[in-house]
Amino acid sequence: MIAGLHSMFLGQVIQGAMRTCVIILVAWFGMLPSPAHASWSARLPEAAPGDVFERTKDQLMAPFPKVFRPIEPDPYTPVAEYLPDLGTLPPFDLRLQLLPGGRRFLRLSNTIWNSGQGPLELINEFDPDKKLTMVYQHVLRENDERRKKLVGEFVWHPAHDHWHFEQFTLYELWSLQPDHSLGEVVASSDKLSYCVMDTDVVDWEHPKFAPRRSYVGCNQLSQGLSVGWGDTYFSYLDGQTLDLTGLPDGFYALVSTVNPNGAILEEDYRNNAAWVFIALRNHRVAQVTLKEIKMAGCDATLCE
Ligand SMILES: [Zn+2]
Repeated sequence: MIAGLHSMFLGQVIQGAMRTCVIILVAWFGMLPSPAHASWSARLPEAAPGDVFERTKDQLMAPFPKVFRPIEPDPYTPVAEYLPDLGTLPPFDLRLQLLPGGRRFLRLSNTIWNSGQGPLELINEFDPDKKLTMVYQHVLRENDERRKKLVGEFVWHPAHDHWHFEQFTLYELWSLQPDHSLGEVVASSDKLSYCVMDTDVVDWEHPKFAPRRSYVGCNQLSQGLSVGWGDTYFSYLDGQTLDLTGLPDGFYALVSTVNPNGAILEEDYRNNAAWVFIALRNHRVAQVTLKEIKMAGCDATLCE
């Protein structure tokens, strides 16, 4: 038992260290001059150029009316709260996995991070009647009190061998219309559970940045995300997939959304989704820009 716990802990430390190393390596290679930079940058999550972002932002946000809900103020205690603000970085490390029988899956790495004024804190309260591990979000207040809100459940994930918080993210592939705006969802992961923890520093210049990792375990007691920290799920992990079997080659938008139900209280729900354009062609997948799609000079769904 102790040995098991010990190895679990060691495993987490090694996993955390590996994730940190990857981030450092990526950052280091990102700073190298070309041609090394050129070869590495093709594999990095690139922010789309400003014009592309501006042009597509409204179109891409339109399909998520649920996450536009304004935060409901608590009418009884007009005290300042330190809410988290969950955001998604553009999906990266895209791969196409080919399986016998013509089945093919898109695999992706994904990072969720907290840019808010306070941590995301998810605390277990076991419900003896329902025999379920209910999860309450604790929001820190100016007067040192905490506001509690029921936000979901912790569930055991057999493939990952640890506890997850339910319905935390959603991956979708959207078709593109001839004018390159979003068409419809052609593949969806359904809402995915996550072990929510601090794995990577995303913004150490954030005024409320937490210099130490506070949420480090995938247990069923508490999970969370400190301010300025991210939680990365790499493409090789179970669940980091979209089933694209039968989908024709062409251009698509891959959209990743955190807190898709809007269950978790946040400062701003408009930054919950991130996306990249992809080209699917001849059993390969590549990230592309809107400019490259336009230069291809063909209808988005008919490109060969
Ligand atoms: Zn997991």
